Amino acid sequence: MDYVWDITNTGTEPGPTGGADDVATHWGVRGRTLASLASHGDPVPPGFVVSDVACRRFLEVGELPAEMWEETVAAVQAISAAKDPDHPLVFAVRASPPVPMPGLLGRALHVGLNPTTLESMTRWGGQGFANRSRLAQLRGLAEMRKVAPHRIASVVGAHTDLDQRSEALAALIVDETQRPIPTDAMEQLREAIETVFASWDAEPARRFRRHEDISDDLGTAVIVHLMVFGDLGPSSGAGVALSRSPVSGEPTPTGVYVASSDVVPDHGDARSHDHPGLAPLEQELPEIAAAISDLLDRSERQTRDMVRLDFVVERSRLWVLDARSADRTGRAAVHIAVDLAESGVTTPEQAVLSVDPDGLEEMLHDRIRFARPTPPVLVGGAASPGAAVGEIVLDAETAVTATAAGRSVILVKRETTPEDLAGVVAAVGVLTSHGGPTSHASVAARGTGTPAVTGAADLEIDASNDRVRIGSEWMTAGTTITLDGSTGSIYPGALELDRATDSVALDTLLRWADDARRLQVWANADTPDAAANARSIGAEGVGLARTEYMFSGERLSVVQRVILSDDLDERTTALEELEDLQIGDFERLLESMDGLPVVVRLLDPPLHEFLPDRWEVDAELGTTSEPTEIRRLERLRRAIDLFEESNPMLGLRGVRLAVVIPEIYRVQVLAALEAVRRRLDADGDPRLELMIPLVGSVEELHLIRDMIDEEVHYAGRQLDVAVGTMIELPRAALVAGDLALDSDFFSFGTNDLTQTTLGISRDDAEEAFLRTYIEQGILRSDPFTTIDRTGVGRLIEMAIAEGRAVNPGLVVGVCGEHGGDPASIDFFHEVGLDYVSCSPPRIPVARLAAAQAALRRM
Ligand code: PEP
Ligand code: MG
Repeated sequence: MDYVWDITNTGTEPGPTGGADDVATHWGVRGRTLASLASHGDPVPPGFVVSDVACRRFLEVGELPAEMWEETVAAVQAISAAKDPDHPLVFAVRASPPVPMPGLLGRALHVGLNPTTLESMTRWGGQGFANRSRLAQLRGLAEMRKVAPHRIASVVGAHTDLDQRSEALAALIVDETQRPIPTDAMEQLREAIETVFASWDAEPARRFRRHEDISDDLGTAVIVHLMVFGDLGPSSGAGVALSRSPVSGEPTPTGVYVASSDVVPDHGDARSHDHPGLAPLEQELPEIAAAISDLLDRSERQTRDMVRLDFVVERSRLWVLDARSADRTGRAAVHIAVDLAESGVTTPEQAVLSVDPDGLEEMLHDRIRFARPTPPVLVGGAASPGAAVGEIVLDAETAVTATAAGRSVILVKRETTPEDLAGVVAAVGVLTSHGGPTSHASVAARGTGTPAVTGAADLEIDASNDRVRIGSEWMTAGTTITLDGSTGSIYPGALELDRATDSVALDTLLRWADDARRLQVWANADTPDAAANARSIGAEGVGLARTEYMFSGERLSVVQRVILSDDLDERTTALEELEDLQIGDFERLLESMDGLPVVVRLLDPPLHEFLPDRWEVDAELGTTSEPTEIRRLERLRRAIDLFEESNPMLGLRGVRLAVVIPEIYRVQVLAALEAVRRRLDADGDPRLELMIPLVGSVEELHLIRDMIDEEVHYAGRQLDVAVGTMIELPRAALVAGDLALDSDFFSFGTNDLTQTTLGISRDDAEEAFLRTYIEQGILRSDPFTTIDRTGVGRLIEMAIAEGRAVNPGLVVGVCGEHGGDPASIDFFHEVGLDYVSCSPPRIPVARLAAAQAALRRM
C-alpha cells in the first residue's frame, strides 16, 4: 500500500517520527496517536489513515490518485468484513495534520448514511436515533459545502419534525450548491476526503501556518474510522477526560461526560472553572471510568505531558477518538512541568523547555474567575497583564483624587502622555482607544504594574458628556467595568477575581531556568518601588530608568521656567531647584538596586510635552487681567509656537534636546553624580551608568560624553560611571563602529529602532493598518512586539559586530519592549547580546525564554 494504512489493527507502535523512511511521518499527529493507542490494545474504532502524500497529489492535480482510491475501497471492505455485523457501516472522516491545527481543517461525520445504512441505523438504535443521525449528516454536509449558516438555521427552524427538517435541508443543499447528494456511500466518502484535503489550502489554515512558521507544502493526512455512537441510551455517552486539572495542574483527573449524547459540551477554555468532572461516569459506568483513569495515567507517563482524551461510550463499550496534549492555564503549565520533573518523568531541562514563557505572566497577577464562558463587550490590545475591577474615570487627575478617596478606578482615555503617569499609577486599570504595545499607556502601565488594554478601536470617548461607548453600549463615568489586561478584554460590571499567589513551583522552574541561561535579565524600571519589585522577581540590574517622570507633576512649572526664562538668574535658580529635586530620586533608585547596575537614560521626550496645551493657555489668557500673569502666559504661548512640531517623534527629543538646551542634561548628570556620592558616603555600592538616547552621529555622542566626563572629573572623587549609547536610529547602527570607540555599552532601543527602520509610527499604526498587514500576511507578526529579524535584526547584528570589532569590552543589551518577548529573546541570545531589559511583569517570562534559547542550542 502506498497511500492507505490500517492504523488500528497493526499491533505495532509507529516508529519515531521524522525518519524519511518512516511511513508514520505521513499519518499526521492524530494518526500516529491512534496507531500507538491501538498497538497498546486500547480501544480505537476500526479505521485507516490516508497519507498526506495523497493530499499533496490532490492539491496539485485536483483529484484523488486512482491507486489511493482503490486502496480506500479495499480498506472499507476490510472494516465492513471485520466489524460487528449489526453495527452500521457509517464513517467519521477527520484531518490528521503534521502538527495540531485545532478546528482549522474540515471533518465529516455520518459519512455513508443512505437508505440502506439508515435501515441498519434504525435496527441499531431505533427510529429516533436514525432520524437524528440523518439530520446531523445533512447539517455537516451543508457546512462542508459552505451553505450560509443563517440559511441552514432558517430552513431547519421552520420545522419541528426531524424528517421534515432533513427533507428541507437536503433540498436547500442541492438548491444552493447545484450538486446532488450522493446516495452511494463511497461517493460520500470521496467528497468528505476531498473536502478535508482542500481545507488545508483554505485561508484560515494558511494564516495559522504563516503564524506558526509551518510549510504550506506539507499537506494533511486523513483518518477514516467507523463511527461509534454515544446517543444510544443511558449506557452510552460522550466525554472529554483530562489527566489533571487544567486550571491548577493538580494531578487529579477531571473532564466532562454527558450520558446518552454524541455531543460533548465545549468545556470552555482551560481558564474556565467549568469542569464538572467525571463523577457521572464513575457512578453509571465505574469500569469505564477506571479504564479511562488507567489510560490517562499511562498516556501521561508515555507522552510526559498532561493528556486530554476524547471518548465515546457505545453501549458500555469505551472508544477513544483522540488523545493529545491538553490546554491549560499558565499556572497549571508550571505546576505540571515541575511535578513531572520532580517525580523523575522528565528532566529539569525538559521542564524548562515545556512551558510557554508567555503563560508565566498571569501567575504574578490577579485574574478573572469565570464561572462560565463570558463574552467580552470590547477587545483591544493586551497591553499590561492582570485583571481589575473599577469605575470608569476619564482623566488622570480624577483617577488620583478618587483613588485617594478609597475608590477603585479604571482610567479610560484616547491615549496617555507622561503627564498622566500619576493617574496610571493610581488607577487599578487603564483602557485606551489608541496606541499599540509600545505607546505611552502600554509602556507606563507595564512599568508601574497597572493592568491595561490599549488600542481598543471600538471604544469612543465623549468627554464633554462624561461618557464612553464600550462596544455597543454607552456608559457614564462612574460605571463599573472589569478589565483583563492579559487578554485585552473588557466586561461590563464587576466579575470575581482570583488574586495572584506565590508559587513554589514557579520559583523552582525559574531556578532551573537560571542555571541554563546565558543572557542576563535586567528591568525597565523608573522608580525605586518598581526597581525593588523587579529585583525581588529576579532582575539583575536596571537596563532603562526613564527620567521623564522626574520632570512631571509639580515639577513641571520648574521645567517650564528653565525652558521659558530669558533671565539668567531665574533660569539658574530653576536649574538648581531641578537638580536638588532629582538627587533624591536617583539616590533612592540606586539604593533599591545597590550592588547592581542602574542605567539612567537622560531625558528623551519632545520638549513640547513639558508645555501645556495651546487651548489651555488661550483660555487662561482670556480670564486674567494681571500683567505679570499675562506676560508669563504670552511667553508660554510663544514657546508652544516655537516647539510645536508636526512630527514630534522625529523632532526635538533625545540627545537633540541636550544640543539645544545643554543645561537640562547637565543638571541630570550633576544630580546623578551627587546621588552616587551620597550612596558611597552611606557605604552603599552604587553602579550608575548613563545612557544617551536617540544618538545618530558620533559628533552628538562626543558632545555629551565630553560634558559627562568633565562633570565626573570635577566631582572631586574617583567615580566609575559607564556611559553608553542607545542604538535606536538606523544611522546609529550604521556608524556603530565609530560610536563604540566612545561607548562603554550599547543598548538597543528597539521601539524607536523599529519605528525608524520600518518608517511605521509606533503610536498610530496599530489600528490604521498594522492589523490589516498582519491579517493579510504582509507582516508575520506585530514588529513592535516581536523583532523584525530580517530588517531591524540585521541592523542589530551589524552594530554588534562593528562595535565589538573596535571595542571588545563593549557590553550590549536591549531595552525596547522586545526585551520581554520570547521570540525576540531567542534572537537576542543567538546574536550574542549580554542582557535583555524588560518591564517588570516580563522578568519571569524573559528568564524562562532566555533559558529556552540556550537549551534549544545545546
Ligand atoms: C526604545 O525606543 O526602544 C526605548 C527603550 O525608548 P522609548 O520607548 O522610551 O522611546
Ligand atoms: Mg526610544
